[in-house]
Amino acid sequence: MSKAPVRPPVPAPAAPAPAIAPEAAPVEEKKPEKKQKPKAPKRRIQVHKLYKLDGASLTRLRKECQRCGRGYFMGQHGNRMTCGNCGYTTYQSKA
Ligand SMILES: [Zn+2]
Repeated sequence: MSKAPVRPPVPAPAAPAPAIAPEAAPVEEKKPEKKQKPKAPKRRIQVHKLYKLDGASLTRLRKECQRCGRGYFMGQHGNRMTCGNCGYTTYQSKA
């Protein structure tokens, strides 16, 4: 007697389940690429432009801040002067 392994008949696979709508693929959120702004070259304060040395006398070319007093100079911008320490600003009239 041959003992051929008798495999039980494989039950026919049930009718394929109705294909489930494939889940919406997870939308990969695309991060907006960061644009690297071209950096402006660092500008160092050119202190030598703030003073004028005339022989032995020294003149300061920037006004001192009225609020902060000595040692605090006003930055000059187009039509105004601003203190970088306290923010005091004076506007120059165009006249
Ligand atoms: Zn000030």
